[in-house]
Amino acid sequence: MEYQAKQLFAKHDVPVTLGAVVETAEDACAAAEKLGGRVVVKAQVLTGGRGKAGGVKLAQDPQEALAHAEQILGMDIKGHTVRRVLVTPIADIAEEYYFSFLVDRAARQYLCIASTAGGIEIEVVAHTTPEAVAKVAIDPLVGVDEAKAREIVETTGFPTQVTEEAVDIVRKLWQVFVEEDATLVEVNPLGLLGDGHLEALDGKMTLDGNADFRHPEHAAFEDKAAADPLEAAAKARGLNYVKLDGEVGVIGNGAGLVMSTLDVVAYAGAAYGVKPANFLDIGGGASAEVMADGLDIVLGDDQVKSVFVNVFGGITACDAVANGIVSALQILGDAATKPLVVRLDGNNVEEGRRILAEADHPLVTCVDTMDGAADRAAQLAAAPAPQEQRA
Ligand code: GDP
Ligand code: MN
Repeated sequence: MEYQAKQLFAKHDVPVTLGAVVETAEDACAAAEKLGGRVVVKAQVLTGGRGKAGGVKLAQDPQEALAHAEQILGMDIKGHTVRRVLVTPIADIAEEYYFSFLVDRAARQYLCIASTAGGIEIEVVAHTTPEAVAKVAIDPLVGVDEAKAREIVETTGFPTQVTEEAVDIVRKLWQVFVEEDATLVEVNPLGLLGDGHLEALDGKMTLDGNADFRHPEHAAFEDKAAADPLEAAAKARGLNYVKLDGEVGVIGNGAGLVMSTLDVVAYAGAAYGVKPANFLDIGGGASAEVMADGLDIVLGDDQVKSVFVNVFGGITACDAVANGIVSALQILGDAATKPLVVRLDGNNVEEGRRILAEADHPLVTCVDTMDGAADRAAQLAAAPAPQEQRA
């Protein structure tokens, strides 16, 4: 969120105004009082375009700040509920610039995207006036040294009177990017103020979760209240789960296999009007516990009507996976209520299929091929529930 990004900016001496983060309109009013009355009230949510959505409002006095905060708190911006607002003194903005560092995976480099046409969405600028958007590649082995910072500032076309200050800020933002292990640092707008100085007036950062172990202090940034409850439960159990909008629950081992499974379910589901309900990668060691955890999470989604378990036996062979599924269903007992379609292949597949056939669980259907299993799972998700059939 903006206020968190600004805290990290401040840590590395990027010019920002921290202001106050509050959760009630009364506190916003009090904060405005302290900050001199004329303030910006800004929704703090994990999405951009807050200004356009009415989530950023200027107030001339504390009473107006109170009214704005009342309006903004609780607002829904692109599916995100506003739970807190940032209150900062109104900046006197002369010009708005765009600045970002990100990872350019295709080029195996870092990339700086910057423009003197900031304030509005950079995607729009890139579309209407692509020549106004500077893109400067950054060699990861060199990083942003003085020369690279100057190249960035010159290519972007910052006004000459702020060249030195811009070079300094570019280098500090690079420090933020590298030292905080970010995959994105974005400032829009980087404002040129009436007094001739530059200041980061907005901030967005994506932190690389793979580096969390180096940053215990980043844990405080996570907004547990905003997270999907099933996604939070999955995360607590170390599972990679993403909730989607459909009816067919998907469990697989390995991100690549799960992605392909989503594709075949989407394809097969088109005929029945159903879609994948989630992404769930249970990883390499598909033990009974992990399988039970995975099933528990997926079955916890009310929208799920059937579950497709697609496992390729590798180091953990199919017989172990089959035993995992059987014990998972025992562990879950009555909590398992929806049909399961299981497709096993790979190491020890014959034994795995034999174990499932022998267990003969009423909810489990085994299908040998991925396409066939996807079709069966989609069909089961589309079929009306038994009581509806009776009605
Ligand atoms: P976003 O819409 O989510 O990107 O939110 P921003 O923080 O970028 O704010 C949107 C716009 O509100 C900015 O581009 C500015 O034009 C305006 N704005 C934000 N803060 C101030 C401020 O302190 N003073 C003035 N005059 N305008 C501001
Ligand atoms: Mn912005």
